[in-house]
Amino acid sequence: MAYVILIIVIAVLGLGAAGWLLLVRPRRAVTARPAPPSAEAEAGAPRAAGGDGDGAPAVSQVRVAAPEIERPPPSAGRLSALRGRLARSQTGLGSVLLNLLSRATLDEQTWEEIEDALITADVGVTPARQIVDELQTKMKVAGSHGVDQARTLLRAELLAQVGPAMDRSLRTAPHAGHPAVLLIAGVNGTGKTTTCGKLARALVGDGRTVLLGAADTFRAAAADQLQTWGDRVGARVVRSDREGADPASVAFEAVKEGIAEHVDTVIVDTAGRLHTKTGLMDELGKVKRVIEKSTTVDEVLLVLDATTGQNGLRQARVFAEVVDVTGIVLTKLDGTAKGGIVIAVQRELGVPVKLVGLGEGPDDLAPFEPGAFVDAIVG
Ligand code: GDP
Repeated sequence: MAYVILIIVIAVLGLGAAGWLLLVRPRRAVTARPAPPSAEAEAGAPRAAGGDGDGAPAVSQVRVAAPEIERPPPSAGRLSALRGRLARSQTGLGSVLLNLLSRATLDEQTWEEIEDALITADVGVTPARQIVDELQTKMKVAGSHGVDQARTLLRAELLAQVGPAMDRSLRTAPHAGHPAVLLIAGVNGTGKTTTCGKLARALVGDGRTVLLGAADTFRAAAADQLQTWGDRVGARVVRSDREGADPASVAFEAVKEGIAEHVDTVIVDTAGRLHTKTGLMDELGKVKRVIEKSTTVDEVLLVLDATTGQNGLRQARVFAEVVDVTGIVLTKLDGTAKGGIVIAVQRELGVPVKLVGLGEGPDDLAPFEPGAFVDAIVG
């Protein structure tokens, strides 16, 4: 009898232990796992809740756990990979033009509609006129105008306007023992700081060492935002711990440290508030001059928001008066059907679009390729 009781006790204890292992242990293991990163952190460097830094600093909340150093993909061929985004935003223009060009009779009114469609897509009045003139002549010569032929001729005309022969290379390689220096300018909200971060990632993906200079000392969150981008790819950020510090001295220090550390590329983010236009523009010129005391500035990239149309062109004019812009970064091309801005802004400034932003994701920045861009428009 005593044996029977002993066996029952052992069985009950055994079942209890098994139940504890099955039910309690796993739950503890799940709760011990770190929380997954927020969608915002996944998508890219976060902004402060208040937009321009007026609100609670969301940045520090997201940076609770130091991110692991990532290995971003290289930049080559990104535009083709992201072509779906471009195509989605440009479908309107391409299909409208092809529908009009495939009409049985191409009368004066149809050509006016074609010109209007181009102008609506921000191509600009003069280039729109040129495209229509060329198409009129070529379609007359060709005789027929089926949709395939219309597409071929339209593609050739748009490509000619985008300028396939322009030099769009970015000077990011070190020279004479000094890093290449890239100055990033633009109005707040255009995606300037995000572009600095994405570009640093792309360069690291291409095998370069990068140092970031947070010379946008006016926007409280900008340096934190840049720090988050830098931390993710192991790029050091030179910043001031004092808000409103002299941007030129931060830029100078960043370049000095970049030279001392033998990095390949230094990317300097600058402040951009157009409402204080004169002072700020003078300051941008000063930042450049101060850097040039120790080395050359290899690129001055102007960041423009593609969704702002004529306003973006006005910004471009103002910036070009102060610094020699060497290339344009057109952001938010994923959010507009007005890709014609590529043609208009290059014409306005006489400098090429070198990079395009196609989303908020960390790798949604691509070297601009005219062929892939035009293909996305005409399908
Ligand atoms: P800054 O004030 O010019 O430095 O602007 P930010 O870099 O802070 O960017 C402003 C907002 O634009 C952020 O929400 C970015 O995620 C967003 N942004 C930047 N580039 C792109 C882009 O190419 N596409 C989209 N959809 N959003 C972008």
